[in-house]
Amino acid sequence: MTETVRALIGRLEVGDTLTEADFRQLLDGSDGSSDALLREKAVAKRKAVYGNSVFVRGLIEISSYCKNDCLYCGIRRSNANAQRYRLTEEQILSCADEGYALGFRTFVLQGGEDAYFTDERLVPLLRELKRRHPDCAVTLSLGERGKESFQRLYDAGADRYLLRHETADAAHYASLHPPELRWENRMECLRQLREIGYAVGAGFMVGSPGQTNAHLAKDLCFIQEFQPEMCGIGPFIPHQDTPFARESAGSAEVTCRLLSVIRLIQPNILLPATTALGTVHPQGREMGILAGANVVMPNLSPTDVRKKYSLYDNKICTGEESAQCKDCLQTRMRAIGYEVVVDRGDPMPHGASAASQSEVVSRKSEVDVARCLSSVPIRNSE
Ligand code: SF4
Repeated sequence: MTETVRALIGRLEVGDTLTEADFRQLLDGSDGSSDALLREKAVAKRKAVYGNSVFVRGLIEISSYCKNDCLYCGIRRSNANAQRYRLTEEQILSCADEGYALGFRTFVLQGGEDAYFTDERLVPLLRELKRRHPDCAVTLSLGERGKESFQRLYDAGADRYLLRHETADAAHYASLHPPELRWENRMECLRQLREIGYAVGAGFMVGSPGQTNAHLAKDLCFIQEFQPEMCGIGPFIPHQDTPFARESAGSAEVTCRLLSVIRLIQPNILLPATTALGTVHPQGREMGILAGANVVMPNLSPTDVRKKYSLYDNKICTGEESAQCKDCLQTRMRAIGYEVVVDRGDPMPHGASAASQSEVVSRKSEVDVARCLSSVPIRNSE
């Protein structure tokens, strides 16, 4: 490891703001020894804020229909081989009920941009979900919808929204998406979500076609500036029925390096060790946690649709029951000294420590219940 890289890691550790050129230097100069130092520093930061807790999010993949045509995605609209399904409202609720019994306190409703899931359908669904499970957080991951829709879903009880920015470089974004999807609009959506009050999740693929360290340095600057509450990063994995079928997958090693850097940039961030990371490496999720991640996302979708939600090839965990997924991850986390906890897993405020965590969680739950109760008149007036 060069002295420059060591100094940059030291600056990150003390909370200095790095420039794009600094991040580029860090990434260009990284090697095995700097990765080990990054891991050590990132784990110390994560432990100071979240202790040894790993938060679980119950992922419910509600629809494989999508009106978009992102070049990397297996459920893009022009993939005639994609198997399409959408869950009924009752199926979604029963996945959540099952998840609740298993100890999940956050549900993530994720799907393509499916016109079926209008606000008129989602609002009563969210209210019912919150009525059944008022102590749970609901995260939406349903793409770009417009500010009015984001607001209505928030008022109906959604707490968090995941919308990966995919790349902080407009030209790179244009090379991964069809012309109708605009980078400026993606960024505007993230700002709108923040304004409304959601806990916001950004994120990007690692090793996407055409990506360089210069692009990644921009992503890190964006994270440093925007300070999302969550950041989902995972290796790019090609899907056989997309224009990127022959591209190489991103690496677990670089993904873990970036997880560590992001943890150092923002110690309180919620950072998943993604399923994609577990797909490119059999111990990928353990590696992610040991690099500074603190969230895992077991699948709660009905087993008969899991293979159909095929964003990339060889996705793991498509055959197991929900309970098996949870148990498997619990065992994996215990084996590396971490504990999956029954907890909403809200983002901690900046500068908070593990000791103040339970206080924040209970305060968040009170706020959440109050918001749900205050939204009841809106339901009645519709
Ligand atoms: S990445 Fe998302 S928006 Fe793009 S095609 Fe896939 S599901 Fe649709």
